[in-house]
Amino acid sequence: MPLLEFFLMAARQPVAFLPAPAPHWVGDGFYVVPLFSDLAFSEEVSPFLMLDYAAPYEFPPREKPPGVGAHPHRGFETVTIVYHGEIEHRDSAGNSGTIGPGDVQWMTAGSGLLHEEFHSRAQTKRGGLVSMAQLWVNLPAKDKMTSPRYQAILDADIPKVPLPGDAGMVRVIAGECLGSKGPAKTFSPMNVWDVRLNAGSKTGFEVTQGYTTAFLVLEGCIQLSDGQEVSEAEVAVFDPAGTRLLLEATRESKILFLNGQPLNEPIVGYGPFVMNTEQEIRQAFRDYQSGKMGKLTAIQGRSHESN
Ligand code: MN
Repeated sequence: MPLLEFFLMAARQPVAFLPAPAPHWVGDGFYVVPLFSDLAFSEEVSPFLMLDYAAPYEFPPREKPPGVGAHPHRGFETVTIVYHGEIEHRDSAGNSGTIGPGDVQWMTAGSGLLHEEFHSRAQTKRGGLVSMAQLWVNLPAKDKMTSPRYQAILDADIPKVPLPGDAGMVRVIAGECLGSKGPAKTFSPMNVWDVRLNAGSKTGFEVTQGYTTAFLVLEGCIQLSDGQEVSEAEVAVFDPAGTRLLLEATRESKILFLNGQPLNEPIVGYGPFVMNTEQEIRQAFRDYQSGKMGKLTAIQGRSHESN
């Protein structure tokens, strides 16, 4: 990988800029862009697997909640961050919840479950903007068959840490920032931060050498120390050898900042399952088909196409 080697020589530089690929519909509720592009499900972004981003999209009022019906997962976690609108989750492990702007749902699929993801009934009836990100976080091999877990993390539970020099504010969803710890329980070390940066501010983040570091620009524009700019719905992935990032917000900006220790384990992903070997994937399909991941009874009036 000559490009990577080149960047390894120079600390703090981005390894890759990932301009937004074309969006696609997940069910009929989420118009998402798969932002990790070709780096998804690769060691380069580990422990993260993929990042779907649904930019603000105006839904007309309707009767039937749009979304995606019952489908299985095994071997990883889905992290849903809502920016606009209200989303409902329900799974075969018995968990359910509705989350709104600023809230996060951290669902550990572990050994397997079925879940569904819809706009809430109230959101559906009134219509309006919906915007969210769904991050898939891989589980270490030893934890892939852990019991499913559901963490509802409300905006009020997320510490808001002011950045020095009135540069902005970090909402610590997972990990730690300037001594404040995020509420999310994780299986490997990582930071997931929702960051606001004031126009014209410059911010330095210290990151652990060797960790994966990437950010998504939700709103605004971020200039890096080499002058390159990352615009809305774009992701920058950084050289793991660097320890310091310098971000300049050319205007008021919001970013999703991701940083974590790579798992260094084989990644075999197929549809809704992410395991370490193909044999484990075949087993996941067998277990799903034989009902070992549970059942989710349909609620009347909802579409139930799987995705
Ligand atoms: Mn899902």
